[in-house]
Amino acid sequence: MDPQRRAFILGGGALIGSAALGAAAKLPPRAPTVAPPVTPPPALAAPAVQTRPAADVRRLFLHNLHTGDTVKTVYWENGRYLNDALAEARFALRDWRNGQQHAMDPGLFDIFHELGARLETDRPFQIISGYRSPATNAALHARSSGVASKSLHLQGMATDIRVEGVQLAHVRNAALDLGRGGVGYYPVSNFVHVDTGRVRRWGGA
Ligand SMILES: [Zn+2]
Repeated sequence: MDPQRRAFILGGGALIGSAALGAAAKLPPRAPTVAPPVTPPPALAAPAVQTRPAADVRRLFLHNLHTGDTVKTVYWENGRYLNDALAEARFALRDWRNGQQHAMDPGLFDIFHELGARLETDRPFQIISGYRSPATNAALHARSSGVASKSLHLQGMATDIRVEGVQLAHVRNAALDLGRGGVGYYPVSNFVHVDTGRVRRWGGA
């Protein structure tokens, strides 16, 4: 064989060999981009969606037994009360005897929020009485010694409640445990009074 031709063949072989090596060297980086994409994203996305709202949100769920009004809403988010929710609650807690409304102390809803957590219930707070207009309070006071003439209901700072499916004494005890505002126990009428005034308690054992 002609030595030059032999060198050419060997050189060509060497070229082919290095080309094959080059192709092999290029393969690994490409492989990962093809393999993983299909399945994992949904499993990773789900927990992120669930955990975010829970931390910085307070919910209100109440049902006015006189009017049938129900409020189920977020009333506090990221450190502030939400005006639309407060307006909705204000309407649902109006004096049902004459329709008069009054701003309600949002601290009441914080009491509900904490009570709901302590009672581990997701049932609504049933409202027996929310805001009371002067006319209504005067009429009730005239009829019953249990109604104070300067009731905090007149200032939108009190509600009379019970919780569906929860014993009244249990609601009362949980309210006392909170250590915020007044707690009155009315087992005969089947409600607990909670208000945002100073801490005090009254009513049966
Ligand atoms: Zn009351």
